[in-house]
Amino acid sequence: MSSLNPKIAAQPQASASQPAQLPIADHQALRAALGVADTATLVMVLAHYTQDEALLDRWAPYLGSPWNPTLQQTPPELLAELRERLFTVLTQSPPPAERPLSDALMRKMMSVNVGEIVTDEFIPLLVEQMGFEKTLPRKQQPGRVAPPADFNVVIIGAGLTGLLAGIKLEEAGYNYQIIEKNTEVGGTWLENIYPGVAVDTPSHFYSYSFELNPDWSHYIPLGHEVQQYLLRVCDKYRLRRHIAFGTKVTKLEYNDTKQKWTVTTEGPQGVRTTEASAIINCHGVLNRWKMPNFPGLKEFKGSVMHTAAWHRGIDLKGKRVALIGTGASAAQCGPAIVEQVAHLTVFQRSKHWCLPYQRVAVPDGVKWALRNIPHYPEWFRFRTYWFTSDGLYADSQVDPSWPQDVSVSARNEAVRQYCIDNMQRKFKDRPDLVDKMLPDYPVFGKRIVMDVEWLNMMTRDNVTLETAAIERLTDNAIVLRDGRSVPVDVIICATGFEIAKMTADMTIIGSGGRNLGAEWGDDDPRAYIGCAAPGYPNYFMTVGPSSGPAHAAGVNLIVETQVNYIIECMDLMLANHAKAMQPTQQACDEFNADVERVMKGMVWSHPKAQSYHKNSKGRVILASPYRLVDYWTMTRKPNPKHYVFK
Ligand code: NAP
Repeated sequence: MSSLNPKIAAQPQASASQPAQLPIADHQALRAALGVADTATLVMVLAHYTQDEALLDRWAPYLGSPWNPTLQQTPPELLAELRERLFTVLTQSPPPAERPLSDALMRKMMSVNVGEIVTDEFIPLLVEQMGFEKTLPRKQQPGRVAPPADFNVVIIGAGLTGLLAGIKLEEAGYNYQIIEKNTEVGGTWLENIYPGVAVDTPSHFYSYSFELNPDWSHYIPLGHEVQQYLLRVCDKYRLRRHIAFGTKVTKLEYNDTKQKWTVTTEGPQGVRTTEASAIINCHGVLNRWKMPNFPGLKEFKGSVMHTAAWHRGIDLKGKRVALIGTGASAAQCGPAIVEQVAHLTVFQRSKHWCLPYQRVAVPDGVKWALRNIPHYPEWFRFRTYWFTSDGLYADSQVDPSWPQDVSVSARNEAVRQYCIDNMQRKFKDRPDLVDKMLPDYPVFGKRIVMDVEWLNMMTRDNVTLETAAIERLTDNAIVLRDGRSVPVDVIICATGFEIAKMTADMTIIGSGGRNLGAEWGDDDPRAYIGCAAPGYPNYFMTVGPSSGPAHAAGVNLIVETQVNYIIECMDLMLANHAKAMQPTQQACDEFNADVERVMKGMVWSHPKAQSYHKNSKGRVILASPYRLVDYWTMTRKPNPKHYVFK
């Protein structure tokens, strides 16, 4: 194989419970699937088997972005020929031999697929993260130093990232335990059960790269489907035996002499301590929900709940409901409850940009293709990644020569206009709503809200949008600062999460007694590469400071990247016969200086952009300023010069 993608095995992805296999015996189902499946993806599957470059050349004028009208102009005979050739290739016996794809062909396929040049820097990331590459589990890799049995790792949290860390530590032969505060796995997706809960990352990207899921019901997954997916993965990898459920980590304290962390937990057996050689904190960014502290909250006699702590079984039928907040959670919850409530009053504190979005069901034929046509899932995931992730990075970049301050570049302005058009169309009879909801800061300055039914909902007779500030609650009403009173029976707080205090309510005492919570304060965290901090040996973070993907989809990719990096760190340390490692202050400072430099060119720094990305001093603390490909590339291996080993 060539140098760029040395590990690509060109094997069908063992993604579904049964790996797809050739020849396909169910001809009727195959014909039906070829009729509805994504055309660009089908072209790639055929090219994958035939390596027919002429095929790519013939299709190049018609493929590209899903929003590009050229696909509609595909000559019917070209489409018919594609389906016929694929039918033959996928049903012939014996099946076609699979030959490894050269880098040049891979690059060409990707570029034709998306209608733009996919440069070399992307290829290794894409090969790994689209699920093409099947690597040997670390413990089977020849020459690797196996971790000693007395080196044990504690993972905090059994959500998307904690489960992933468990799977990868198992594959690497590490002794580990996962400590989870809930009584089930899933984290965010276990807890967030409010009506309408969904994901705004496309389904076919939002999964582990090594566990693609052919069964998503919609192109944007519903919350419970993600939870079902995580439960399946947890059971498939037999992770439960490693998880201490119902147990909360309250304190971590490093013992310099022993080179171990003392982990204090509160669980079914009360307060306990245990020792760990390393910690991987996977406690989640969006996990500690934020309840507003309105005066009079305790006097209110109706039900009050946060979207992330939904009261199971609550009956909203015929009730006067207040929905506080207008972010993603509110925009999903409101439309899901509006038909049953007597009246819904939405309380908006600041304006959010809303991007028109559709919740489209995945046709059965496409699900069949994802399950049964080899390489279809990987090529489909590639398209999804490209158009919803790094392909959107430029929308958030500041063009210094751009003259306006309502947008930051021509691309950003185009998205702004698109959002305005959507709003004006949906509010054509309600100009008052345009006035109330149209933001004056650039699009993406705050996390954008996906508008499936949110704006339509605002125009209903039983919905009021309140923009006056909330002053206090009484036993049955919300009193506004302008003196008006809104009687309500139920209050739903879609008020977001405590993000800035990244140590949460855990006490973390590092080497020499330093205290991470005190160093970071309430909202000023800084780390090296989002994963480690000087003074805290073998304490690893996921989605730590400056590493949250903000320009588009990608948290799944970031957490895989970070877990891989953390294991690379521990492997390097153990191979060097060290027991502990921590980044140098210089490496941490240099990383943060670079973050600051790049961040100046990103929309989240814009003076008008106020969001949870910024701390009270206006510094962007959570968002990564990099493309996913930049971050993935910079974290392939730890730089030994950036660490102190002991
Ligand atoms: P959010 O984006 O932080 O929005 C919270 C909303 O509550 C904002 O409108 C905020 O106003 C308002 N608010 C907060 N405190 C308030 C107070 N004291 N009084 C009045 N209003 C108050 O929270 P979220 O909607 O839960 O979303 C959080 C994150 O989760 C986002 O990144 C979102 O994309 C993500 N999310 C993702 C999905 C998904 O699809 N994956 C689903 C839900 C959420 P201000 O804007 O003025 O602060």
